[in-house]
Amino acid sequence: MSAAPPAWWRAPFARLGTWRERRALARRAIPDELWRLTLLRLPFLARLDEAERAELRRLCSLFLDRKQFHGAGGLEVTDGMALLIAAQACLPVLRLGLHFYDGFVGIVVHPDEVVAQRSVMDEDGVVHEYEENLTGEAMSGGPLMLAWADVQDAAESADWAYNVVIHEFAHVIDAASGPVDGVPPLPDGAARERWIAVLDDAYDDFCRRVDSGADTVVDPYGAEAVEEFFAVAVEAFFVAAGPFRRESPALYALLAGYFRQDPAAA
Ligand SMILES: [Zn+2]
Repeated sequence: MSAAPPAWWRAPFARLGTWRERRALARRAIPDELWRLTLLRLPFLARLDEAERAELRRLCSLFLDRKQFHGAGGLEVTDGMALLIAAQACLPVLRLGLHFYDGFVGIVVHPDEVVAQRSVMDEDGVVHEYEENLTGEAMSGGPLMLAWADVQDAAESADWAYNVVIHEFAHVIDAASGPVDGVPPLPDGAARERWIAVLDDAYDDFCRRVDSGADTVVDPYGAEAVEEFFAVAVEAFFVAAGPFRRESPALYALLAGYFRQDPAAA
């Protein structure tokens, strides 16, 4: 007997995907008024044309169907809140698809930033305890954590290229290739080499500017580590595209090619 199943055997499964998707889209249909309000609250989406907005809305329905939202600290996550998060999370993968986000289901929304207890061991083996204020966190396998106070400020904070949802989902995209190192999944070794060359150049240049005390469009927090630089650069790419392109044209071009979007052109 042949090991490969005949074509007729596989065909129904190809259709099953679309059927499942149609069911999810019906189950999670986004009311017109709620969608309109969501677009108004995220002015950086205004550049999207009608077809792109329809695709974002479709991805949001699928995202809401696949993810589970939990409110922490007494916070109740309403449909409007979940959609505001979904719309920002789906923007980077608008032309790539939701598969980057398949590794986790839970999204925990805290009312405000969370104080995390951290410890780090130095080279002498001494453990140092410290506290870190988190507005978001993406862990391998999830859940993903977000502070609602920062999520809902997305319109104003775009002025300083800050977007906590895009930041955390940039880490998820980065992690889809394995290590969180600022290098997302790429088709081959050559693309990977080119990515690292452009990212490292932009990172060195950025760290020099931050060290010299110069103002940067990209959040100076990015100087902490290259994977944080990648995440803050993705934020700037989507919410402050024009200024980011002027500051870092080579990295802008790299991200535009990857995400298949050119937000500064709109
Ligand atoms: Zn980060």
